[in-house]
Amino acid sequence: MKKQILGLGLLTIFAVAAAAQKNQKTRPPIIDVHMHAYEKDERWAQKVPNPLTGQPMTATTELAHMQATFAEMKKYNIVKAVVSNDYQAVLRWNAASPDRIIPSYGFDNPALPNLDFLRREHAAGRLKALGEIGAQYEGVAPNDPKLEQYFALAEELDIPLAIHIGLSKPGIVYDDAPKYRAALSSPLLLEEVLIRHPRLRVNVMHAGWPMLDEMIALMWAHPQVYVDLGVIDWALPRKEFHAYLRRLVEAGFGKRIMFGSDQMVWPDAIGLAIKGIESAIFLTPEQKQDIFYNNAVRFLRLERSGNSSRYRLAKRQTSKLFARASTNNRRSYSSRPFEP
Ligand SMILES: [Zn+2]
Repeated sequence: MKKQILGLGLLTIFAVAAAAQKNQKTRPPIIDVHMHAYEKDERWAQKVPNPLTGQPMTATTELAHMQATFAEMKKYNIVKAVVSNDYQAVLRWNAASPDRIIPSYGFDNPALPNLDFLRREHAAGRLKALGEIGAQYEGVAPNDPKLEQYFALAEELDIPLAIHIGLSKPGIVYDDAPKYRAALSSPLLLEEVLIRHPRLRVNVMHAGWPMLDEMIALMWAHPQVYVDLGVIDWALPRKEFHAYLRRLVEAGFGKRIMFGSDQMVWPDAIGLAIKGIESAIFLTPEQKQDIFYNNAVRFLRLERSGNSSRYRLAKRQTSKLFARASTNNRRSYSSRPFEP
């Protein structure tokens, strides 16, 4: 009996490994610029099921959550992920998978991160990005002077910075985050920051949903601004997500939209997020390839990080795989991205 179980276990391991290898050949590579790692989380204690699908939560420790997320990354051929939240947990993820995990320092309360610590972490080669900055959960606006030192630091160190702007869980102000204000969701609140720090490499997370017109105004006026599609690509009604994404692409910003899952404590959300973009029939295969991969390579400057030949190769493979996928996706809209 024990032998049978062992045999079955080995078979499962081989099957998973074989599937992962197959996925690397058949699925185009993806970069996820919006992932989270936690040391502990109340939602684990309460075993909160996936809010969209109701799928029960099984990964309820840091290790189990990391392993479940890594398994999804393999399944969907996610080759890089920018990971934030509990910094020590992020570093442990990075130690477990140094090639795939890009450590980022996230915080909500602008009084907390110590600038000297951040500088030391960066100098030691561990810290690669700032964010998710969730100051909105503390009732702090993107242009609040309290955040100024972090914008200045990211600009000085020339590292990407990602800021939460937009939606949260409906009703969050009544339980988890009493200081959260929807009124601080305005992407235009970043405008003076961008002007004060013209070299800042900024990712407006969640693409500022639902402030579409403001997001377009900001991206049009400030060509350095990128966005990610974290959480809106799996938690919103799909029609609404597609309408939002389509407007951003048709307004000409297809080269500045990046894939993010914002999986939080639900690793199964990664697959849902990927399907959110794969199912967008208004996108050409090239536009999907940009969102899933090329735009993040440019924003994160992965080509300059000593792996340029690898990324060029990956780009070529990606093109082939997307061209193959296009036979299933004949319908496309002609749109010429406007890149000032
Ligand atoms: Zn967020």
